[in-house]
Amino acid sequence: GDGDTPLLEVRGVSKRFGGLTAVDGADLVVRPGTITALIGPNGSGKTTLFNLITGGMSADSGEIWFDGRRIDAMRPWSRGHLGLGRTYQVTRLFKEMTVQQNVVAPLPDSRWRTMFSDAVHGHEADRARDLLDIVGLGRMADQPAGALSYGQQKLVELAQVMMLQPRLILLDEPAGGVNPSLLGRLTEVIRELNRGGVTFLIVEHNIPLVLELCDPVVVFSRGAPIAEGPPALIQQDPIVLDAYLGD
Ligand code: ADP
Repeated sequence: GDGDTPLLEVRGVSKRFGGLTAVDGADLVVRPGTITALIGPNGSGKTTLFNLITGGMSADSGEIWFDGRRIDAMRPWSRGHLGLGRTYQVTRLFKEMTVQQNVVAPLPDSRWRTMFSDAVHGHEADRARDLLDIVGLGRMADQPAGALSYGQQKLVELAQVMMLQPRLILLDEPAGGVNPSLLGRLTEVIRELNRGGVTFLIVEHNIPLVLELCDPVVVFSRGAPIAEGPPALIQQDPIVLDAYLGD
């Protein structure tokens, strides 16, 4: 395909909560093959924009396009079906279920099956094991998810979202609360999945990690992007520094 065709395009999207405009006519493009970062001060609207893209909330105005289709009126499930995956700031695993059962849980019909049997079998089980190996947790597959550290649970969620074979994954603060010893593995896993063809859009407050992992970096302030570029340029942009220091 044409490398310049956006995989995701947000056009003039706004979202108000009462008198507060959380997202204000935002335009954003995510090109295929990139690890795009979305950074900005607390309250600048990043999480709200994520929710508008994945369908947890609907926009007041504007359009959202994914892979050549307009998606802003679609249900979240339909957007997932098209290849749009996400993780959340706080992990949402079923703590009593095994790690492997959690990884297959998002598949259609799998919830009921895994609730009533301890083992997961067949092709889905193999794929779940492969994904757990990729995130370095293959040996934890049969442990209850609640027995893992918080950072390990975040890696399980990455395997879980990969189960649906997404083309774009939105990660909401993947490094938040993750033990420093696991951060290296987390970035390596994201890089490896990216080499395998998965595009990422990442909201993250750990700026050194963003500068090391992401290109381009999009800077959000007061509900819309104010700057975009490669990390080397973004970290010395006076507009960016002002947006952070000004709040
Ligand atoms: P960020 O992710 O950049 O920290 P958010 O998108 O969480 O920013 O929040 C943007 C603004 O919208 C904030 O002022 C926040 O308080 C407000 N906001 C977010 N979600 C809601 C909601 N469900 N109801 C009311 N206000 C909200």
